[in-house]
Amino acid sequence: MTTKQRVLVSAMRYEAKGILSVEMVSAQDEDLAQFSAGGHIDVFFRKGLVRQYSLINDPEEKNRYQFAVLLEREGRGGSAFVHKSLRVGDVIEVSQPRNNFKLNDDADSHVFVAGGIGITPFISMAHHCRRHARPMKLYYCARAPETTAFVEQLTEIFGENTEVHYDGGDPSKSIDLTQLVAKEKGSQLYCCGPRGLMDALSDVVYRHGGSLLTEDFNPAGSKTHTENSNDGGFTIELLRSGVSVDVVPGQTIIEALQAANIEVETSCEAGVCGTCVVDYVDGEPIHNDVVLMPDEQEKSVALCVAGCNSKKLVVDL
Ligand SMILES: Cc1cc2nc3c(=O)[nH]c(=O)nc-3n(C[C@H](O)[C@H](O)[C@H](O)COP(=O)(O)OP(=O)(O)OC[C@H]3O[C@@H](n4cnc5c(N)ncnc54)[C@H](O)[C@@H]3O)c2cc1C
Repeated sequence: MTTKQRVLVSAMRYEAKGILSVEMVSAQDEDLAQFSAGGHIDVFFRKGLVRQYSLINDPEEKNRYQFAVLLEREGRGGSAFVHKSLRVGDVIEVSQPRNNFKLNDDADSHVFVAGGIGITPFISMAHHCRRHARPMKLYYCARAPETTAFVEQLTEIFGENTEVHYDGGDPSKSIDLTQLVAKEKGSQLYCCGPRGLMDALSDVVYRHGGSLLTEDFNPAGSKTHTENSNDGGFTIELLRSGVSVDVVPGQTIIEALQAANIEVETSCEAGVCGTCVVDYVDGEPIHNDVVLMPDEQEKSVALCVAGCNSKKLVVDL
């Protein structure tokens, strides 16, 4: 698990209807851990409420983090906490920055396709590309001007390589993805937004060729069950306390630990965010996550979706 950073909320402002940006500085007057373009942090709002937010400021800035949060009325409370409870002057904890959505350094040019709040990771990428004079273009799909954030700032960065498409909530009136893929042939494509947009673009890329990287903000509905080749379940042993807990078939490791009153940080519960990643020292985990690279899976495991091929998994907890 990573070291948390204590931060002070230094500014908050509405960027569009339902979208609030938050600026944070170190509560200890230190530099904050550096992030890379497209990176995010876990924000710990209160016990048990952790959410991920893409950082939207320039990755070269060491004195602050900035992110923007869309109010999800149907959500489980993370975005509502930001909109209704978080205030300037509050001190909270955030994780070290992580990045599951990196720029492809080998690409000659970068084409960003954003839908709604999925614009956020592209803002730090844009700062980075501008600083390093890397060619880039933005396609920004949204419902209506009043709910669309950062258009002015992004137009200033992307200049004439900015295309904003308003569809009034009807995706059939949005951008023609087949044309987009044909036009941007040879560029690295990136997409973040509603799953419908990401699936549609990935479908076109699959049929017409190209390279696409995506980030899913809402992993709910992804695979969340624990695969387990041991019909009788397995045991998870916590190295530091020596405690062992049985994980029964169909149960996730997180559920088993929580049932034994063992607190463990978790958030997406779909192997996407990385909050519950820990090192393991013995056993043969089945990695069902999409957050760890193959070399990282040799020493770490995302507890929320992992199964186990051995009878015992010993983790550094
Ligand atoms: C890497 C990363 C970066 C992110 N960056 C941003 C960002 O910059 N800005 C931003 O606003 N958000 C971002 N998010 C999303 C953010 O972490 C929160 O998920 C978001 O703020 C909503 O939190 P919530 O608790 O209000 O809603 P959640 O409970 O997380 O719900 C979000 C949506 O999922 C649906 N949902 C919840 N549970 C289920 C379920 N079991 N089955 C089906 N549907 C379900 C809800 O109806 C809701 O529409 C990011 C997520 C990730 C993983």
